[in-house]
Amino acid sequence: MLKSLFFLLLLSLSLFGIENYQVFIKQYQAEDGQLFLTLRQFTRDSKTFYLTLNTSTLQTRIEPLEVIRLMPITQQWQKSEFGELLYNATKLSRFGGIREATNPLPHTIFLTMDMCPSQKSGYEEEFVHHLTQRFGKTPIAIAMTSAWLKAHEKEFDALANNPLLDITWINHTHTHFYDRNLPNEENFMRHEGTNVKEEILGLEQTLIEKGVTPSVFFRFPGLIADESLMKALRDTYFLIPISSHAWIAKNEAIKRGSIILIHGNKNEHQGITLLEHKLPSLASTFTFKPLREAFVK
Ligand SMILES: [Zn+2]
Repeated sequence: MLKSLFFLLLLSLSLFGIENYQVFIKQYQAEDGQLFLTLRQFTRDSKTFYLTLNTSTLQTRIEPLEVIRLMPITQQWQKSEFGELLYNATKLSRFGGIREATNPLPHTIFLTMDMCPSQKSGYEEEFVHHLTQRFGKTPIAIAMTSAWLKAHEKEFDALANNPLLDITWINHTHTHFYDRNLPNEENFMRHEGTNVKEEILGLEQTLIEKGVTPSVFFRFPGLIADESLMKALRDTYFLIPISSHAWIAKNEAIKRGSIILIHGNKNEHQGITLLEHKLPSLASTFTFKPLREAFVK
């Protein structure tokens, strides 16, 4: 028994254990002419994989690629839907990123749920149940931290494997530093000594090792950013910062194209209760859509 458990463990390590995870920005074209970027490169079982981005649809994938197809980036990507969105979203450092859909279809809203580190066990499971009961399979963007995930492996697996959720994984950093005694401009990622690279790549690697694919979206802890952090997202990491002006616990209103913000880690249950009460009226007016559809068709 012990022996077979050991082999299972080895097997799962070799399935998901990854090495040399790094930023790797190149471009390539699909046969239909569609422009793709590689964002990251890593090795698994001595095989090389890439995190890739479709610059029109904002969809990411993990795949092996023929190295010969990968070219240095030109200006071309900057004119893509992705390039324009990245440029515009990273100008909004005061808000921590883009706050609402730029291209919403009628009656569409976008749900984001943050999983900041928490001492509480469990997650807002009942809310997720009610949500999917009412809306059926529901698109939701979950802003994940490694700190929450590593303390809540079972809960993460339940979320990730919920067949009624269509999840976009947002990068909410590796450790999500927060000190209640510090002012915002010295707090969260603006805290001195923040290792930006580790915060960003650490969470992506954690997600990939759990078998899920990170999206191209990033959410600043506390929605607190500054210009140099935005520059890092734009010039180094190629991630789109997603803010909100429909933070439910702050009583901000939901309208067409809203990017709704709640916390799923039980640290802000009043927001969950408020949204729960709004679900019947939301269901009569709006549909939840995947976050990338806030920006592209
Ligand atoms: Zn957070």
